[in-house]
Amino acid sequence: MPTVLIVEDERDIREVLRRYLERSGLSVLTTASGAEALRLLASADLVLLDLGLPDIDGTELLREIHLREKLPVIVLTARSTTEDRIRGLELGADDYVTKPFSPHEVVLRVQAVLNRLGEKPADGGVVTYGQDRLRIDETAHRVWLDDRPLDLTPTEWGLLSAIAAAPGRVYSRYELVNRVRGYEYEGYERTIDSHIKNLRRKLGPTGADVVETVLGVGYRLGLRRDESS
Ligand code: CA
Repeated sequence: MPTVLIVEDERDIREVLRRYLERSGLSVLTTASGAEALRLLASADLVLLDLGLPDIDGTELLREIHLREKLPVIVLTARSTTEDRIRGLELGADDYVTKPFSPHEVVLRVQAVLNRLGEKPADGGVVTYGQDRLRIDETAHRVWLDDRPLDLTPTEWGLLSAIAAAPGRVYSRYELVNRVRGYEYEGYERTIDSHIKNLRRKLGPTGADVVETVLGVGYRLGLRRDESS
């Protein structure tokens, strides 16, 4: 049973989320403190993180979580401006919920992220692109570019894996949201751009041709799939 760690200093929100998540069959850990959250990371599969914590800056904690454990993080916040939203995603959050939110919606998002992590493609194995330049291990969710392993967040992984499914085909932002989230969410399309930006930064200058932008349409993989793979 996957375990969700709720890091939230408002007791009412913490408890309502715990109830909903437990009812949906998940195991739940909670804490009001950022320091304790760091100690609990090893026992969690996903973190629901309130950015406004009393003892530590939430964005700082988000960074720490990604340094220590590669866990998916869904950010909970009262901050609702576009800049804050984009900033959270740039820091590597996998999803973003603005307060006040419906607990049911949070459960759906948690499930979507967990499902994505648990997906195992039928054929599995490593597929290579661009004459072995890009290597994608669908089973282990690992990626190498020119023999260099890339450290991707679950969302970045999902985006790359989605466009690599049919190299050359253009995927719209709307389609990508659905592929990586597993459900439709109006307004999320813009945030795809910031995840792509992060992905490109990790691909680096030598990988500049891997993800192509098709203006006004979306994104596609710029490499061909190798025949032998
Ligand atoms: Ca708070």
